[in-house]
Formats: sequence, structure tokens, C-alpha cells
Amino acid sequence: MAWRCSGSTNIELIENMARNGLINSVRVRNAMKQVDRANYVIDKRDAYEDAPQRIGHGATISAPHMHAHASEYLLTYLQPGSKVLDVGSGSGYLTAIFHHLVSPGDGQPAGKVVGIDHIAELVDWSVENLNKDGLDPALESGEIEMIAGDGRKGYAAAGPYDCIHVGAAAPTVPQELIDQLAQPGRLFIPVGTGVQEIIQIDKDHGGNIHKKRLFGVVYVPLTDQEIQRRSPY
Ligand code: SAH
Repeated sequence: MAWRCSGSTNIELIENMARNGLINSVRVRNAMKQVDRANYVIDKRDAYEDAPQRIGHGATISAPHMHAHASEYLLTYLQPGSKVLDVGSGSGYLTAIFHHLVSPGDGQPAGKVVGIDHIAELVDWSVENLNKDGLDPALESGEIEMIAGDGRKGYAAAGPYDCIHVGAAAPTVPQELIDQLAQPGRLFIPVGTGVQEIIQIDKDHGGNIHKKRLFGVVYVPLTDQEIQRRSPY
């Protein structure tokens, strides 16, 4: 599927994904068009490939269709004014897409997106990327906040969150992330060590938890910083 969705420009990449049913909503399509993937990768020649790419420190920027899926599954919770936590924010690419969804401008309420990654070098690089992509005003106003820290603990200081996205696979679902969900709120998290699958966890108005298994995936692990730093990539 991936080869059919690649493009020679950012707009072409997004349009091809929409044509192939990988993006279904106009809101996700528009938000993704506002984020130029070339600003978030190391090898710009492959920026518009629908494929993951290594970004150093044992991390990868996921394939764009995975970012599209995550945005689509979380979309109800990504309204103007919503508060979002992006755990394992890596390149900052998905954090930027979430920002455009929750702070669309046009006089609509502004939301807040917190990106958290445990590799400080990646956090610094993601800030550079967001600046290159024209998001310096959002960083200055605090509509986007990039934090270095262990995402398994979440970031309670800015919570609770309407939705939490996790971009790395956890052996089990960290309770702190469930605790930091608003009522209602949705957590999208890859879980598993060998075989991984996306688990969607909804907290309803009454605080009750509903879990749903979505689909199989391959993500880098949500792990200890020291372990990840031993990665040869
Ligand atoms: N959404 C990112 C995905 C990056 S890969 C993107 O597309 O660019 C997964 C990221 O999770 C890596 O950047 C890695 O450093 C981070 N990560 C792994 N374990 C973590 C932990 N315990 N706390 C915070 N970040 C973690």
C-alpha cells in the first residue's frame, strides 16, 4: 500500500493517502497538509514517502499513514480547545498535526498539545523542526509545549487530557496515563513486546474505562532511556 501513497510533494502525499482511504476526514486532511514532513526528517529525499524513517537515538518518525490512523481514531477528542498529550513525540511531526486540529485559528478556541520524549536531544531537535514549520508562535504562546521526561509517567502538570497518544509500544498500559485522561477522554497506545497491537482506552463521563483492540502494528519500544541509548541506530 505504501508505495501507492507516496508523493513528490507534501500535498501530493496527503492527497494520495486520502484517495487510498488512509485519511477519511477533511479535518485530518487539512491538518496534515499544514505540516510539511520535510521539516521533520533527516533524509529530505524520502520526506514524502509513506514509510517510517530513522531519526537517530534509536527512534523513527512513523509512516505518515500511521499518523493519519492515530489522528482519525482520536479525532472526536481533538476538537478546537482540546488538551492533548503526545508521548514519544520524537520528531514533533504528529504533535504539529494535533496542534492544527485543536488550535485551528479562525476565531475558534485554542487548545494545548504537550509533546514528551525521554531523549533530550530529540526534544531539542523537535523544537527546531516545529520552528522551521512556522510553529514558533505556538511554542511561544504555550499552545505547544515540548518536554523532556519519562512519558510512562505522563505529564500531570498540564492534565487532564482529552486525549493521549503514545508513539512507542508499551509492555503494559501505564496506569498514570489512564489517570491523566479527562472524563471523557481517549488513550491510543501500542501495547506488546513481540506482537504489538493498538489499544484504544476510553474513559467515559462517569470515569468508567472501556478498552478496545484496534489493529496490529510495529513500533519502537516505550522503554528506559539507558536501554534506548544502547541502540545502534
Ligand atoms: N511520534 C514520533 C514517534 C517517534 S518513535 C514520530 O513520529 O516522530 C518513538 C519515540 O518514543 C522515540 O522518540 C523515543 O525516544 C520515545 N520514547 C521511548 N520510550 C519513551 C519513554 N519512556 N518516555 C518518553 N519517550 C519515549
